[in-house]
Parts: sequence; C-alpha cells; structure tokens
Amino acid sequence: MAPQTELDGFGMTSPRARARLVERLRDRGIQNRRVLAVMENTPRHIFLDEALSHRAYEETALPIGHGQTLSQPYVVARMTEVLYEAVPHAKSVLEIGTGSGYQTAVLAQIYPQIYSVERIKPLQDKARRRMQQLGLRNVVMKHADGGLGWPQPKQFDAILSAAAPAAIPQTLLSQLAPGGVLVIPVGEHTQYLTLVRDCRDEYEISTLEPVKFVPLLSGITR
Ligand code: SAH
Repeated sequence: MAPQTELDGFGMTSPRARARLVERLRDRGIQNRRVLAVMENTPRHIFLDEALSHRAYEETALPIGHGQTLSQPYVVARMTEVLYEAVPHAKSVLEIGTGSGYQTAVLAQIYPQIYSVERIKPLQDKARRRMQQLGLRNVVMKHADGGLGWPQPKQFDAILSAAAPAAIPQTLLSQLAPGGVLVIPVGEHTQYLTLVRDCRDEYEISTLEPVKFVPLLSGITR
C-alpha cells in the first residue's frame, strides 16, 4: 500500500485540482452525475510517471511510454457517459487497451466486473499495480490482442475500446451479449466515436462525435 499522501495528492494533484477538473468537464457538457463523481474520486496523477504527475488534471492527453498516451479527461468522461447511459446495469465490461489503467479504474468504480486487455506487457504490469494501489479488486487483466476480444469465449454486456480500428471488428460484435453495447472510436484518418447495440437480429449503429485515438494494432509485444 502506498503512503496515503501519494493517493491523496497535494498542490497540482490535490482533491481541489480534481474538483476543478470536474467543473471543466461539466462546462464541456458532461452531465452524468455518476461519471462526474467517479472522476472526482479517481486520483489521475498515479497513472502517470512522477515527472508528469503535476500535469494530470490538465485537459490533455499525456505520454505513458511505448508511444502510447493517457486519454484526455474529457474523452474518458465522454466515453464512460456514453457507455453508462446505454447500459447502466451492465455486469461484465470488456475494455480494449488498458494503457495506464485510468479508464479501467473509472469503469471499475461503476460496474461490478471489468476485463481489460492490453497488447504491451510493461504497460499492463504498471496498470495492474495501480489497481492494487487503489484497492480495485474487480478487474481481470490479460496480455492479448484486443482486436480478437477476450481470449476465452465469453459474452460481455459492454465493450469499450480505447484504440481505433479502421472498421468495427466483427470479433468484438460476436462477444456482445444480447442487448449489449460496444463503444469504440472507428476510422483511419478521421475517427468517430461509435456506439453499437446488439439488438439480436441486427446491430444498431450510432455515429457520435469526431475523436482522436491511437490505432488498434494487431499482435502483442513483451
Ligand atoms: N484509456 C487508456 C488509453 C491508452 S491508449 C488510458 O487512458 O491510459 C490505448 C491503448 O490501447 C494503448 O495502451 C495501446 O497499447 C492499446 N492497444 C492498441 N491496440 C491494441 C490491441 N489490439 N489490443 C490491446 N490493446 C491495444
């Protein structure tokens, strides 16, 4: 367990910095109170290397190594809001692209069981330690290619991807439970946040706002 002060933060990483972040999210149109409360409660600074932690509550994506980034707070809030409003009572949620684990931690405070895959092993190892530090025990992580979904056959009430494929992966659709939803950025040059709902005999697709995510790559790295 880390000393309490690291989790609490101080100065640029204090609860006050977090409260200001939530104010900005509200100004930008995030309305869901559950999502805002969870973001206010989640110490974003522990998801960054120490040298960057003072920038954790800025409205920007930040590097986490291996060419990857921690998504900007608005994007995490918006994706979570889209998901939560579509499936507030989901039991199992699959996340593709754990990265720092920040989005994972947000989801783990809303839903009972989170499964998260990441293709870069060192990122996953760090994210796993952060879940322990926060006492979040409802997250199962796997080092795998998330474009193929969860490695064992399983169905999820919700799937959220933090990496963008050129087109919606069929494998992810096949892992949705009936009525389940997939929230995913889709596109190569221009990406759109996309919400897909499994309506048993068809998929209902809603194209939301333009976004910018790292690409969904195939294969894994050690
Ligand atoms: N929400 C995360 C975002 C990380 S960036 C955060 O805020 O930290 C997206 C992540 O997706 C990167 O860590 C990248 O390695 C991962 N990724 C890309 N393609 C993947 C794939 N096919 N399977 C699993 N993870 C993938």
